[in-house]
Amino acid sequence: MKIAVFSTKSYDQEYFENYNSEKKYDFTFFETSLTSSTANLTLGFDVICAFVNDKIDQDTIEILAKNGVKLIAMRCAGFNNVDIQSAKTHGIKVVRVPAYSPEAVAEHSVALILTLNRKTHKAYNRVREGNFSLKNLIGFNLHGKTVGVVGTGQIGAAFCRIMKGFGCNLFAYDLTESQELVEMGVQYLPIDEVFMQSDIISLHCPLTPGTKHIVNSSSLAQMKDGVMIINTSRGALINTADAIDGLAQKKIGYLGIDVYEQEEKLFFEDLSESIIQDDYILRLNSFPNVLITSHQAYFTKEAMDQITLITLDNIQAFENKQQLINEVV
Ligand code: NAD
Repeated sequence: MKIAVFSTKSYDQEYFENYNSEKKYDFTFFETSLTSSTANLTLGFDVICAFVNDKIDQDTIEILAKNGVKLIAMRCAGFNNVDIQSAKTHGIKVVRVPAYSPEAVAEHSVALILTLNRKTHKAYNRVREGNFSLKNLIGFNLHGKTVGVVGTGQIGAAFCRIMKGFGCNLFAYDLTESQELVEMGVQYLPIDEVFMQSDIISLHCPLTPGTKHIVNSSSLAQMKDGVMIINTSRGALINTADAIDGLAQKKIGYLGIDVYEQEEKLFFEDLSESIIQDDYILRLNSFPNVLITSHQAYFTKEAMDQITLITLDNIQAFENKQQLINEVV
């Protein structure tokens, strides 16, 4: 099987090569992302392996099909960037890694909460510069606060378990309720109620037409003044322009995001010597109460091991004509 890996970073290659020491798979690593403009590179490959910001739309898929690609192996959980219908039409299977380490993402959400709240990022810089003042570093106790969780699948559930340990009250919204979480004390409410009653709102649902921009000017109006919003799921769950207005009007007290609506032009790259043309990210970065990380919530050793192993298992199952347990249908 000839496999073309797109959007490759050094660490991706390192993990794939480690797990392919017997050279069972024939990998070619491309640094470029996969889009309709780069899809010609797939000529002669059976499988393409792609990531969160590759743009696998109808145009890309038509070229993949023409080039003989038979499998799209996503090395991530989300598949909002793949035109599944088009893949189906062209007889290309799509597999993904549905769960590799929900704790990795849940723990990063908590890292965003704690950093925004207790301002350890600011304290670190201050103390290193000999500034031992506590001015403006005041935080709040998480104990007793109400946390609203939107989407209680694998990651949302792991997040609930951690926040329960902090002594938070947990409200949740999901299309399906988890009995395990209910037994743990999580209370499911309509989404409006979750928005109205929460001190902290954390988004853990997938990006779908139904969830796009669930945080917008009207949902923000329902929220408590000074609410903390955390998004480690997908950028377009938040309407960025509305969030910027919410921050300017002090409706949003804290915003922690690991994902961003227009991240594909920025994230995973070192642009420190470039002129960044995205005015939204520059404006977001201007707020002292905004913390942005570059889609790193998944990035732990344990998660990378699982992503690599499950991706290889998915490819092997395809090669052996076995059932594709992680197929997106
Ligand atoms: P999951 O499928 O286990 O859970 C998703 C949950 O969202 C399900 O319970 C589902 O019922 C619920 N849901 C679906 N539509 C909803 C809606 N309209 N409103 C409320 N809930 C809804 O997925 P997961 O593994 O928990 O991952 C959640 C998301 O996290 C993924 O879709 C992906 O976008 C994101 N993610 C981000 C990173 C990262 O590094 N930042 C890593 C992995 C996953």
